[in-house]
Amino acid sequence: MPVDPVCRKELDPLRASATASYKGHTLYFCSLRCKDEFQRNPGMFIRGATSEKKKEGFLKRVFR
Ligand SMILES: [Zn+2]
Repeated sequence: MPVDPVCRKELDPLRASATASYKGHTLYFCSLRCKDEFQRNPGMFIRGATSEKKKEGFLKRVFR
């Protein structure tokens, strides 16, 4: 299941409230608010994820 990169909730793509394109990938968000936050500063969420131990799993699930 894809993961919302902002709040990191698992999402059913069919029930995601918002999607966005980022570097050729479709990202899923639980709400427009999360999407807005991501679009304000995408790099921050991606970098934040990469500094974590679970980064690979996380990024794989964000960028499927
Ligand atoms: Zn969210």
